[in-house]
Amino acid sequence: MASLLKRRTRSAADLASGDTLALLYRLWKDWLRPHSRALLLILVFIVIVAAATGLYPVLIKAAFEAFTNRSGTGAPVKINLGFTRWFVERREVIVFGPFFVVLVTAIKGFALYALIRLTNQVVTRIEADMQSALYGHLIDADLARLGQESPAALTQRFTTDFLFIKEALTRIITVFLRELATVTALVAAMFLIDPALTLAAACVVPFVAHPIARIGKKLRRNSNSTQEQVGQMAALVSESLAGARIAKSYGLEGYLKERTRQAFDAVRRLKIKAANARARLDPLLEVGGGAAVAAVLGIIGYRILDGRSTVGDFAGFVTALMIAAQPVRALGNLNAIVQEAAAALKRYYGILDEEPRIRDRPGAAPLAVGAGEVRFEDVSFLYVNGPPALDRIDLAIPAGRTTAIVGRSGSGKSTLLSLLPRLYDPTSGRVLIDGQDVREVTLRSLRANIAIVAQETILFEGSVAANIGFGREGASRAEIEAAARAAAADGFISALPQGYDTEVGPGGMRLSGGERQRVSLARAFLRNAPILLLDEATSALDAESERRVQDAIRSLMRGRTTIVIAHRLSTIRDADQIVVLDEGRIAEAGTHAELGQQGGIYARLQRLQVLGELIPDQGEVEAPRPAPAALAGE
Ligand code: ADP
Ligand code: MG
Repeated sequence: MASLLKRRTRSAADLASGDTLALLYRLWKDWLRPHSRALLLILVFIVIVAAATGLYPVLIKAAFEAFTNRSGTGAPVKINLGFTRWFVERREVIVFGPFFVVLVTAIKGFALYALIRLTNQVVTRIEADMQSALYGHLIDADLARLGQESPAALTQRFTTDFLFIKEALTRIITVFLRELATVTALVAAMFLIDPALTLAAACVVPFVAHPIARIGKKLRRNSNSTQEQVGQMAALVSESLAGARIAKSYGLEGYLKERTRQAFDAVRRLKIKAANARARLDPLLEVGGGAAVAAVLGIIGYRILDGRSTVGDFAGFVTALMIAAQPVRALGNLNAIVQEAAAALKRYYGILDEEPRIRDRPGAAPLAVGAGEVRFEDVSFLYVNGPPALDRIDLAIPAGRTTAIVGRSGSGKSTLLSLLPRLYDPTSGRVLIDGQDVREVTLRSLRANIAIVAQETILFEGSVAANIGFGREGASRAEIEAAARAAAADGFISALPQGYDTEVGPGGMRLSGGERQRVSLARAFLRNAPILLLDEATSALDAESERRVQDAIRSLMRGRTTIVIAHRLSTIRDADQIVVLDEGRIAEAGTHAELGQQGGIYARLQRLQVLGELIPDQGEVEAPRPAPAALAGE
């Protein structure tokens, strides 16, 4: 018994749960209030609709009273004119009765149309506003944050969650406000007709409200698990479709089908649970409505016999009750919808409230680039839940020179580079450019001074020209083409069906890996930044195109502070400094000649070069430094 009581109070509290109310208030403050004018207009139409609806039972009662008054049969029942006296005492009511009905319904019809149109306009606009804000927040978020969820799962936030939010918004406006106003008007009409009877019918309410609250709570919990499952399902599907090439070559179709079927099933089970909970609502409200009608029938029948009520009262009252049944049912269903939306809203705000840690310090000044000297001071870095990827790195990278980073895969080379443009911040230690801590300068100026050609080059959907153009804002077509020529990309681009205007497809998938790499190299040329980061920039190229691109890269490196991760011996042996990373630590550092004699990791890598760790460059024998390309000298 005690536990039953406890459960009751908890779920009763849930109906008006402070959490839900706080979320709804935030929804109002952030997204609805800017549209308060349109919402006010909506409210006006709501009042019109509700008032027109409230007139129905009054009209019915008046008509009944008028008929019984004038039927000339010497009606045996007492006539209770009450507030309808004005209508009834006029003959015209019989003539104008039908006309009134048409007028009232016409007004209601028009108001309803305006109400629905306006509501849809406002709601879809709010939805788009909220989605834009979410996207803006995600794209500004730390890379480390984005890495915590799959892109597919994050994409789901824009669709599934908004189904709930949009539904709830529409229902709150159309159902909650409208039906509440309607029910209020109807209850007012019932009160006018018979106050005692109204109270009797109202006794049913608490018996229905309690289970409704419990169902709402259940749905809210269910919504969270569903979203999680749907996210996992989306991640599975998109990951396996993206890897279709591998999946087919390894005959993984069966395995993938089974794995995704399990994910679909998990979502299905949760959806069934939610549907079952929701299915209990309508019957519950139906039974509640039946109880109310039964109470009215019992009482009013007794009173008509007593002569204290009229048939008109009865007709008006039952009309009101019947009209009220649908709005009351809608209101009863609303809690469930609001609870599901509250769960979605909570997830929405969960993202919106995450502050990116990598952003401008207050009062940060732009980076003042001099020669472009880079220093790593006692830098350590840990990925979330990962082992130390960098361990106490002390490294000076001289301005305008080339520093090569070598080491086994997983030794931390890419991680080291990503600290410079602040894709991540070091866990401890400092990264300096010309003596300025990268965390103390504006991100914009920092990144504008760094050009990156990365290991896996993903392009954005759009033309080839646009993808190169991202290198520098406002670059002209001539500059873009010059950059492409410098990157030895001009040849293949001109051979494409629409040349520079060829669409690269989602992620650049219509280009080969090598072509993508050359596009991103052209982008780096266009950027013309003093600091250049090359992360295995030629790894996707075949030997033939690599040799051509190699010349382009050399000219790009000229006069810039370059950190290069390369597998090509020529790039490395020409470097002014070679740093060997091993398990996140600097194992060796020096020139090619120095390290070759030390007999350490570098010497071993060099011996293994035939195995592919370091590919010798046929052109290296004479190795004449190429003349600087047009852009490199700027
Ligand atoms: P390299 O470029 O030398 O091959 P990385 O710098 O990419 O090596 O990786 C260094 C280490 O950090 C590896 O052990 C790798 O597994 C880990 N690592 C890389 N990226 C992430 C990430 N986003 N989250 C967690 N661990 C990562
Ligand atoms: Mg790497």
